[in-house]
Amino acid sequence: MKTLAMQRGAAGKLILIALGILVAVSAWLLMSDGSALRKQAELKALDVIGNAATARLGGDDHGEATHGSAVELIKRPIEVKQLADSVYQATGVGNVMMIVTDEGNVLFDAGLVLQTPKQLGALRQVSDAPIKKIILSHSHADHIGGTRFFAEEGTEIIAHKHFEEEQRYLMELEPYQYQRNSTLFPWMPAWEDRPDIAMMRYGGIMPDVIVDDYKVHSFTLGGIEFQVIGTPGAEGADNVVLWLPEQKILFSGDFFGPQFPQFPNVFTMRGEKIRKPIEYVKSLDVLLQLPIETVVPSHLDPTTGAAQISADMTRIRDAVQYVHDETVAGMNAGKDVYQLMREIKLPPELDLVQNHGKVDWAVRSIWDYYMTWFHFESTTELYPVPARDVYADLAEAAGSEGLLSLGRNYLLQGEPVKTLHIVEVVLAAEPANIEALNQRQQALGVLLDAAEHGLNNDYEIYWLQARMADTAARLESPVAN
Ligand SMILES: [Zn+2]
Repeated sequence: MKTLAMQRGAAGKLILIALGILVAVSAWLLMSDGSALRKQAELKALDVIGNAATARLGGDDHGEATHGSAVELIKRPIEVKQLADSVYQATGVGNVMMIVTDEGNVLFDAGLVLQTPKQLGALRQVSDAPIKKIILSHSHADHIGGTRFFAEEGTEIIAHKHFEEEQRYLMELEPYQYQRNSTLFPWMPAWEDRPDIAMMRYGGIMPDVIVDDYKVHSFTLGGIEFQVIGTPGAEGADNVVLWLPEQKILFSGDFFGPQFPQFPNVFTMRGEKIRKPIEYVKSLDVLLQLPIETVVPSHLDPTTGAAQISADMTRIRDAVQYVHDETVAGMNAGKDVYQLMREIKLPPELDLVQNHGKVDWAVRSIWDYYMTWFHFESTTELYPVPARDVYADLAEAAGSEGLLSLGRNYLLQGEPVKTLHIVEVVLAAEPANIEALNQRQQALGVLLDAAEHGLNNDYEIYWLQARMADTAARLESPVAN
C-alpha cells in the first residue's frame, strides 16, 4: 500500500511539471496565431501531464494499489485496434472509437483529456480524414475529455438531451466531487495539487444534435448507417449508445459499466445524482430487440457472440429488476433499509460480478430514490444535530477504557463495523488515542480482507485502503487535530 506521504511526493513531482507547463501555456496565450497552433501546443503540454500521471501509478512498485479496474485502466497501453471493417478503437482509460467512411469519420466518445494527445495521434495514423461527427455517450470526464481537440470546423456533436444539465451539475460540484473521486481513484492528484490549466477543465460542450430517452437519431455517412439511441438509467441520466445495424455492433459507452457483463452501478457511492433502475430496465428492453453481435464498451475490451451477449443483457436486466422488486416488497412489508441490505442477494441464476455496482448499495439507493432522506426511524433525522455531536461527551461519560474493551470484543466476535462505531465515539474525545486507532486499523483490515476475498468491489476496496492510509498516517504522528 502506498502511504499518503509517498502519494504526496509523487504529486509534488506532478506539480513541478505542471508549473513548468503553466508558464509555457501563458506564453501561448500571448500568441495571436490561429487556434490550430494553440491546440498543438496544448496537446504537447497535455501529453507531458498525462505521462506524469501514468508514471505515478505505472511503476508497479506497490502491487496492492493495483487490484482494480480504475487503476488498471491508466496502465492500459494506448494503441489502435481494428475491431471490424472501418471500425477502430484507440484504447486508454476511456476508449475512443472511430468509424472511417468515404465521406469522413465518426467518433464515439473522446476519452480522458490527459490521454488525448496519444489517442488523437494514434487515430490520425489510421485516417486523417475530417471528423464529421462526435457522439458522446454521456458527460463523464473520461468520455468527453478530448472532444474539443478532436472536433474540427463543422464537426457535429451528438449527445443526450440531458447532457448539458448533467455537465452543469458535475461542473458546479467539481471542487466537492474532486475530493471524493481522488480518494477512490488514487491516480488523481489532490485538488490543491492538480494542474489547474484551462485546457484540462471539462464541460462547456454544446451538442448540436440531442437525442431523447428511448428515441433513435439515425444518419448515414459514406454508406454506413448509424443509429444513436437514448438509453437513460445507466451511468447518469444522459446516456446514449451507438448501434451500427449492418455491422451489428453496439457501442455501449458506460451503459453496462466499465465491464460487460456486471451488476451495474445503480447509483454510485462516489456520489452523483440518482440513477433510475426502472428506466435502466426499459433501456435494456430496447437494446434487447437488437441483434447485437459485438459490444464495444468505452472501457476495456469488446465482447462478441450474439447468444451470450443476449443472455448476459437479459441477466443484467433481470438482476436489476429483481433487486428493485425485492427492495420495494421489503419496504411494503415494513422492513428497514439495513435489514434489506443484509437480506437481498442475487439468486444463482442472476449472479453477476459486483466489482463495480454492489447489490446491497443498490438496495439502499433504490430505497433513497423512492423515499429520499427521511427514513422515519428517529426524530433526530429531522434536525441538523447528528449522533457524532454527542460522541465526545458520550466517550467521557462512558470512559474510553470500557468503550475500547467493547470495541475489542466486537472485533473478536467478527463485527468490525460495530468496532468502527465505538472507535468513532472514542476518537471524538481523543483523536490521538492509539488503542482506538489500532482498533480502527484492525477493523478496516478485516473489512478489506473480506472485500478482496468476497465481491472484490473496487470502490469499497479503494475506500478502505484510503481509510487505512489515513489511519496509518495518524498512528505515525498521533497529534490531536
Ligand atoms: Zn467511464
